Formats: sequence, C-alpha cells, structure tokens
Amino acid sequence: MATIESVSVCIARVPLANPVTFSTRQVKAREYCLVKVRSTDGQEGLGYCYAVNSAGRLLSVAVTDLFGARLVGQESLRVEGLWSELYQEALLLGRAGGVMRVLSAIDIALWDLNARTANLPLYQYLGAKTLGRVPAYASGGYYQPGKTPDKLAQEMEQHVREGFRAVKMKVGLESAAGERKRIAAVREAIGDDVRLMLDANNAWRDLPTALEYMRVLEPYNPFWIEEPFSPDDIANHARLARATRVTVATGEIEAGRWRFKDLIEQGATTLLQTDATVCGGITEFRRIAAMADSHGLTVAPHAWHDVHVHLVAATPNATYVEWMPDDHIVNFRRVIDRQLVADNGDLLLPKLPGLGFRFDDAALEEFGVVYPGAEGRWQTVR
Ligand SMILES: [Mg+2]
Repeated sequence: MATIESVSVCIARVPLANPVTFSTRQVKAREYCLVKVRSTDGQEGLGYCYAVNSAGRLLSVAVTDLFGARLVGQESLRVEGLWSELYQEALLLGRAGGVMRVLSAIDIALWDLNARTANLPLYQYLGAKTLGRVPAYASGGYYQPGKTPDKLAQEMEQHVREGFRAVKMKVGLESAAGERKRIAAVREAIGDDVRLMLDANNAWRDLPTALEYMRVLEPYNPFWIEEPFSPDDIANHARLARATRVTVATGEIEAGRWRFKDLIEQGATTLLQTDATVCGGITEFRRIAAMADSHGLTVAPHAWHDVHVHLVAATPNATYVEWMPDDHIVNFRRVIDRQLVADNGDLLLPKLPGLGFRFDDAALEEFGVVYPGAEGRWQTVR
C-alpha cells in the first residue's frame, strides 16, 4: 500500500531551434506540464502532458489549486476511485482541454507510481500482450522553409532505410496541386510497400475543400487521413468518411469516453488516435480502447512515445506507436534521462520499472520555468 505524500508540478519550456509550421499553426517553443506524485515510502510516479506554446502556468495551477490537495493522504492503488473523484472535482472546469490534460498527467503518475512500487515496467503492470517489442511508425514530414518535395521525400526515405514500414507526413498547408507534388515525391521515394499516413491538423473548413485535396491524394494510396477538420466538426468527419476510400483517423485532442463514443457512433472515424496525456490518462485510455474494440476498431495513439509504448504493448487493439525520431520538432526528449530504442521499425520495450525514465534535473535547470512569486521550478502540494 502506498500513501500519497505530495504532488509536485513543473512547467518546462523547451524552445525549437527552427520554428515549425503545420497546416493551421506555427510552433516556436513547447511547454510541458511535468507531474510527480510521491508516496510515503519514497517512490515517485511521473506523469506529463503537453502544455502547448506559452500557457503552461494555467495547467500548473490545476495541480496546485484544484487537484493536489484531493490526492495527498490517499492510497495510490485506488486509481479508479481517485479518477472519478478528480473528474467530479473538476466537473465545472474540466471534462476536456487543459484541466483534463492535467488529470491525465496525474493519472499517468499514479499508474507509474504503482508500477514502480511493484518493481515492474508499466506495460507489465498493466498486463502486457507482448514483452519484447511493438510496431512503430516514423512521424515527421513537417513544413519548414526551403523543404522542397525532394527534401521531404529524402526525409521519409531515410525512415524506410532505418527499417520503418510506415511513415507519416503533414498535408493541407499548400494548395491541392502543391500537395500532389509533395505526396508524389514521397510515394516515389518510399515505394508501394510502405504505409503512408497523412496528417492534416484540422486543415479544412468544409467538405468540398477536403474532397478537392482527397481527390489528388487518393491515387497515392495513403493509409489514413488524420484530423481533416476541427475536432468539433464531427458531421464533416462522417461525411468525408463516406465520401473517400481513405480511412479517416482522429482523436488526438479529444477527451473522455463519451466524446469517443460520439465519434464512433456517428461514423466520423474508423481509427482512433486517442492520446493518454489528453483523454483522461491511462485509466480513460483503456476504457476508450475497449469501447473501440467492441466496434471492431483499432487505436494508434497520438505522439508521446515514452508513455504510449507501454499502452500499445498492453492494449489488444492498439497497433502502432507514433515515433518521433529526433527532437527538432517534438522535444520532450530533452527533459528526460533515457530514450527508447527503435530497431527495424519497432520500439524495444523498456525493462526498468514504471515508465522507464526520470525527469532530467539538469535539463530542468535550463528549461524549468520559475514564475514570479514561486519558490522554484517545482511547486509542491503536501
Ligand atoms: Mg496529428
């Protein structure tokens, strides 16, 4: 039995050397909300979520002022009970978005704490379906100044040379004709035998525009088209799913099992990209995955390979980890002390207890934000 002694939060702000562009936004720095849940027997569970560009403080306050005091003195093994109580505590402020991300980070930290206390890697503590390795796809293909279709194709081909059998690129920023040049170069470079995923990052406003793009992209046999519309526009997802022969994938910024139920029942998607750091943590991820399985659907979790490697290894209908090969774009790597190993298109499952990494204190000296009036980078509720 492990009793929770304290809950701590630190916002890490990690700049990008070169700003990167999506179809709908530009990113210059990334903030991460890092959470530690400490037990009276000295173990520490870690959780985290992405806090976007500049407003990490908003998430930090959800730990210090909303959730922290509810957790201190509680038994960490009572994960389901604590989840319900935190969800209820935040009912008027949470349910989706920043507060749900914080609930997710705390829930991950509880699972991590319990796995470390049991001295088991997290995927084993969750009940693994496999113990050695899990499939991954290499994710990239962002827009950057000077990145011609040829350079994009070289980037994708490099992943294939490293052994990946599935790769992902961004679409939707350029005109349909411009996107045709990009995908044509990539398909030519990677060959017909590699799965090619497309990520539109909510690029399109209406069905005619989405179809204009899909008509030129379809001949290159993409495996899925990801987030074609705003996540709120379930109706257009469903219309597009009926109108194209490409699988519509979505869910990376969706939270709560109820909204995923809507997505499934309204025919908006047949491939969920549920993110445990967004949807309500590992507890909610497992509920959503089980519901998807009952509809015959699979889950390919969004990003954050350091946590999702465990969930893909422990979820029967999870297919791929999204692998971010370097820290040029997604730089969470910089704040942890150990990196996963990719091998011939798979990720090797970590052998250390819990998540298998710790936050890197030296990196947090550099990236941890000290807010005015705060005692330090970490703020602790005890
Ligand atoms: Mg995406």
